Amino acid sequence: MRSLLSLIAAALMLSACHASRARGTAPAYKAVFVLVDGIPADVVERVPTPFLDAIAREGAYARAHVGGERGGPTETPTTSAPGYMSLLTSTWANKHNVWDNGNQRPDYRFWNLFRIVETADSTRKTAIFSTWLDNRTVLIGEGQPDAGNFRLDHAVDGFELDTVAYPHDRAKRYILAIDRHVTDEAANYIARTGPDLSWVYLEHTDDVAHATGDGPDFDAAVQRADSLVGRIHAAVKQRERIGERWMMVVTTDHGRDSVSGRGHGGRSTRERTTWIVTNQRPLTPRFTRGDAAIVDIAPSILHFLRVRAPAAVATQMEGVSFLARD
Ligand SMILES: [Zn+2]
Repeated sequence: MRSLLSLIAAALMLSACHASRARGTAPAYKAVFVLVDGIPADVVERVPTPFLDAIAREGAYARAHVGGERGGPTETPTTSAPGYMSLLTSTWANKHNVWDNGNQRPDYRFWNLFRIVETADSTRKTAIFSTWLDNRTVLIGEGQPDAGNFRLDHAVDGFELDTVAYPHDRAKRYILAIDRHVTDEAANYIARTGPDLSWVYLEHTDDVAHATGDGPDFDAAVQRADSLVGRIHAAVKQRERIGERWMMVVTTDHGRDSVSGRGHGGRSTRERTTWIVTNQRPLTPRFTRGDAAIVDIAPSILHFLRVRAPAAVATQMEGVSFLARD
């Protein structure tokens, strides 16, 4: 097994050398962001998460927030799909217009990260590995004319609709099985092909918290999610060894209520308080003092990828890059 892996690594290294020699350009810049659903900052800080810690040792961990301005025009429910959409578009719900998980009517005038990258250079490879199909088909709006009519290069999702391969059980263990599957697919695909921009979305942590609230079951779910993030990180490290530059961002979409930990959606500090882990540094004071928001992630990734959004799109963004270098 080891010799096969080293053969593959050697082949990857050769092809990377050939590619960069052919282009005669600077190293490739690539990014992957991972969203693990509904993990409050106090929980991720208390529960042992060695794989997140390993990423943070390369870059940093900091608290952050979702939900826009409390009481202001940008206030956004601390609900999943509105949060994902804030990440993707660097806008709050008053612009992106996703207010809940169902009946979404995204306002595609506020471009998402994938549309910006594909529009800047359609040869860039984009990928999604997701336990929720709507992330691609509705929020990103893949293939829809008013969402830019573009396609991702690779999609691994939709398994939650497959009740044969993933029989639905009340405890939602099938969601954990899907999380594991999409993670394996992401790790393999990243290690093998090095896509320019990828999104990995993992859901099971939120399901466990909705069912049991704060407590040992949720802590265990967070640890399982941490180990899945570790698989993605290992794939990124593999690509870095062949000379590519990679930005990794791991975050969550909301915290939880402070009474039971089962719910979210409101404006309490615990529901609004999230966190971001990245392998990059140096970082801005806004990031390190815990003032970054979920809307800062897309501008940071664009910054790292050296991709400029069209001016009319960029001026609508509510976030700023947390990378403190050019
Ligand atoms: Zn959520």
